[in-house]
Amino acid sequence: MTRLRIAIQKSGRLHEQSLQLLKESGLHFNNGKDQLKTQAVNFPAELLFLRDDDIPQYIEDCVADAGILGENVVLEKQKRNEIVLRLGFAKCRLSIAVPKSEKYTDKKWLQGKNIATSYPNLVKTFLKRNNIEAGIHEISGSVEIAPGIGLADAICDIVSSGSTLLSNGLKEVEIVVQSEAVLAAGASLETEKKVLLQELLFRINAVQAAQNNKYILMNCPNEAIEKITSVIPGMKSPTVMPLTKPGWSSLHSVVNESDFWKKINLLKAFGAEGILVIPIEKMIA
Ligand code: ATP
Ligand code: ZN
Repeated sequence: MTRLRIAIQKSGRLHEQSLQLLKESGLHFNNGKDQLKTQAVNFPAELLFLRDDDIPQYIEDCVADAGILGENVVLEKQKRNEIVLRLGFAKCRLSIAVPKSEKYTDKKWLQGKNIATSYPNLVKTFLKRNNIEAGIHEISGSVEIAPGIGLADAICDIVSSGSTLLSNGLKEVEIVVQSEAVLAAGASLETEKKVLLQELLFRINAVQAAQNNKYILMNCPNEAIEKITSVIPGMKSPTVMPLTKPGWSSLHSVVNESDFWKKINLLKAFGAEGILVIPIEKMIA
């Protein structure tokens, strides 16, 4: 039987959310990450637990068909991987940081300097794009201590809040690339695997859509129905049911998370009452 082999991080920042996303997409697994691999019990898929840095090579070598990993790693490794979906978690950026005491005004400061990083390819591309020549000192971890111990003038590393930089006496000066977790896949999957990947994508899309939307119910005066419909049209149009109280209806629709509070205020202004907001588990248009 053909199974889609999906690589996820064995342990680390991406592990939990990768597993959770697959579970929410209806893939159930028996064994935990103590194994090297495990099979889904209700979908033709197999999970491989790997170091995130190794996933692009496994995908290129067709040992894995797809993987969940940081975009930063996909871009750095430059293997035959295609990003098929952005997943919206593990958002971070790869940035250049210099000692706080430096008077950094623009990228020219980097000319002739030494930059320590675990992302030599991305740094090389960044320097080339900006016509800067600088040395790259590749190290695999604890990059942020490099300037303090005299190993480099600057660093290029993953930043999310910036607190690690601050505690090492550094300041962020340039963003090299923005990143989030992505689903990557092999560039030339066989047809049967492509079909399985499409099925997985369909399910992940349904989960993501559900996470971005809420089911909303409210009571409203009948004369407000039209105005409310224009604000929350829902997936096709709202459901309207009469209340036993004359002149009033119950209206059900779907509302997007992003402008939720703005819309709630409008609904209230239109006379809506008793507004209930309920999470959606899956959403299929
Ligand atoms: P491994 O043992 O698998 O090699 P690692 O130490 O290289 O793990 P993690 O620190 O777990 O990797 O980070 C995995 C990914 O999570 C990174 O490649 C990046 O995409 C993302 N990431 C890293 N740091 C942060 C952060 N501070 N905030 C958000 N996302 C981050
Ligand atoms: Zn890693």
